[in-house]
Formats: sequence, structure tokens, C-alpha cells
Amino acid sequence: MKYVICVPDGCADEPHPDLGGRTPLEVADMPVLRSLAARGTVGRAAVIPPGMPPGSDVGNLSILGYDPAVHHTGRAPIEAAALGLRIRPDQVAFRCNLSTVDLSGGDGGTMVDFAGGHPDTEAAAEVVAALDAELGAGAGAEISFHPGVQYRHVMVAPESWADAVCVPPHDLSDGPAVWPTGPAGERLSEVMRASRDVLARFGAVEANQVWLWGQGHQPQLPSFRATHGVDAGMVTAVDLVRGLGVLTGMEVVEVPGATGWYDTDYEGKRDAALAALDGGLDLFVVHVEATDEAGHAGNVAEKVRALENWDRRILDGLVAGLGDMGDWRLLLTPDHPTPLHLKTHTTDPVPYLLVDSRTDGPGGEYTEPATTDSAVVAGHDLMSLLLSDGS
Ligand SMILES: [Zn+2]
Repeated sequence: MKYVICVPDGCADEPHPDLGGRTPLEVADMPVLRSLAARGTVGRAAVIPPGMPPGSDVGNLSILGYDPAVHHTGRAPIEAAALGLRIRPDQVAFRCNLSTVDLSGGDGGTMVDFAGGHPDTEAAAEVVAALDAELGAGAGAEISFHPGVQYRHVMVAPESWADAVCVPPHDLSDGPAVWPTGPAGERLSEVMRASRDVLARFGAVEANQVWLWGQGHQPQLPSFRATHGVDAGMVTAVDLVRGLGVLTGMEVVEVPGATGWYDTDYEGKRDAALAALDGGLDLFVVHVEATDEAGHAGNVAEKVRALENWDRRILDGLVAGLGDMGDWRLLLTPDHPTPLHLKTHTTDPVPYLLVDSRTDGPGGEYTEPATTDSAVVAGHDLMSLLLSDGS
């Protein structure tokens, strides 16, 4: 038996005026998904447990079958693990966005772009190196900066710096920039202000300062193999998701054309999944960020296109390839909604789809409206639904 988990990040949405009051999942042309739903089981899952922040870290931890209420310590330490960083017990990791904040209006300014114009990874790495040289380890400071992907980087600091309230910048889009508060808030704000002088020298990068948030200690996660009894791998372009793979001992496959953006290599991810499963893994997670990015941008057309790319460039060949290998079960679910009209994540339950190649389920439609009346299962129970042998 082979198992596949498909995660179109943040694909769940709400009715949108530009789509005639329908959701992207209702509008997108997805014949393969439609036929899978017609023979499978659709339902609703609370991938974000009550009271927890609706981040991809929390949602994907749920999808991997770990209860975030038990295992989640923060977002940044997961990304740090993806970068191969070891966070000592007396340290904390912060997520360090390259962001664009307009201070001209006074006060804390306006969050113009939490992603700093999506710098390319190489250009961003030069900026992060300069930050580390001038404000971090290179300057003898007790903090250090570590490059990640595009606008997403990591700062490591002594434990005491964790004592602050930091607002995720993607929750501030186009609104007032709410700077860190609490005992360590001023120290963090100082670093953020100082970073403006460093960024000012990088004309090719639109971002003009760092934004620090998502701090936490390194979590202790039992391995995927020990927890679920199968050997698993994943492909993703996002450090946050890759870090969960690293921390749980999954085989993390790199696909060179995986960008975390609309232009990602869908076929490359599909082929990586099939090759890994054919090579002996029992379970594989395919994560694509494009739907989430489109949601954050409020870009209706790109969100619909990303869904159609899933269907045409992943699901079609994936189902055929799995069929060649024998019996398979598939779970498709986002890690949270990213509604276009809100441009940020919500905590609402998401639609999920389970398909078994051997037996037909009750069938249904994989959309938000079609699942609103379904009972809600806990997100971290989806894995046992997938791994349980049919019925
Ligand atoms: Zn997400």
C-alpha cells in the first residue's frame, strides 16, 4: 500500500465577488479532483486546533499526525531545523522576514509588503550575510542571522529575547505595522530599526527592513516512523514545512525547480513523489505553496490557476503512476484557509478528501460549501484515517 498526502497550502477559501460568489475550489477546472471526490470520502477537518494561531506550521503539524497543542513550540525553530541549525536550549529562534515597511506616516508605519517584494533567494542571502556581519555574530553580537528562501530567514537569539509579543507581518498587510511589545520588545525593535540602514544599501532588493516574529525553542518531535509505523518523505519549497520533515526524520526530497511561488515545478514534485514511493517509501507528502501566496496577494486568477495546475500537472499523473505501483490511498487537504478577500489565514475547518484505490467511498464534492454540514474531525486524526486500512 502506498500513501500520498497532497497539501495545496491555504487553498480553502470563502465565496468571492469576482467569482460570482463562489470559491476558487468551486470555480477551478479540476476534472481529476472532481472524479477522485466522486469516488472517495469528503469531510471537514480542524487542522488548526481551537485557540492556536492559524499558521502553516500548526496546520502541517496536524496533517503529519502530531497534535499541535502538544508539540508546537513556535514557528521559527521549525524553519531553523530546515536550515540545519541547531538551537541550543538557552537559545530561541525568530523568523526574520525581509519586509517593506513605510515609516513616512509616523508611528510604527504601514506594513506595505510582508514579503519585501519577494526577493530572489541569492540576493536575499547577500542581505542576510550583511545583517549578520553588521548586527549579528560578525559584529560580536549575541544574535545571529541565517539565510533561508526568498524573504523567509531566521535570527537566533538568547532565550530572554523570546519574552515579547510579535505580530506576524502577513496579518498586518496594508495596515499599521504593530511592532514587538513586552519585556524584549524594545530590543527586537532596535534590531528591526537598525536593519533599515543595512537594507538601504541593497537597491535591487525592495525590502527595507527585517520583521522579527514566530519565536520559540526547538521542539522535541518523535519520529514519523516511530509515531506512524511507515517510512515517509516529502517535497516542499517552504522551510517551515521542510523543517517538520527534518524534525520528524522524514526523507526530504529537493526539487530544483520548486520555488514556493506560482512558477513552481509542479511536474517535478509529482515525479519526486512517484520516484520516492517507487524507491521504497510508504508515504509521501506533496506540498505546494502557490495557492497560499495567491491568497495572501488577493490574486483571484492565480489562486484558481494554481488549483488547475494541481489537477493537470500533479494529480493526473500522480494517480496514473500510483495505479502502476498497486494499491494506494490518498489524502488531500490544505493546512488552513487563506481567503482571498482577507489576504491572511483563518482558523476555520478545511475540506479534506480521502481516496482508496480499492474501494469507493460515499462520494461527494471537494468544495467548502459542499462540506459545511460535515462533522469536523481533528486535523491530527487525518493521518490515522489515511493509514487505517479502509472501511
Ligand atoms: Zn500554509
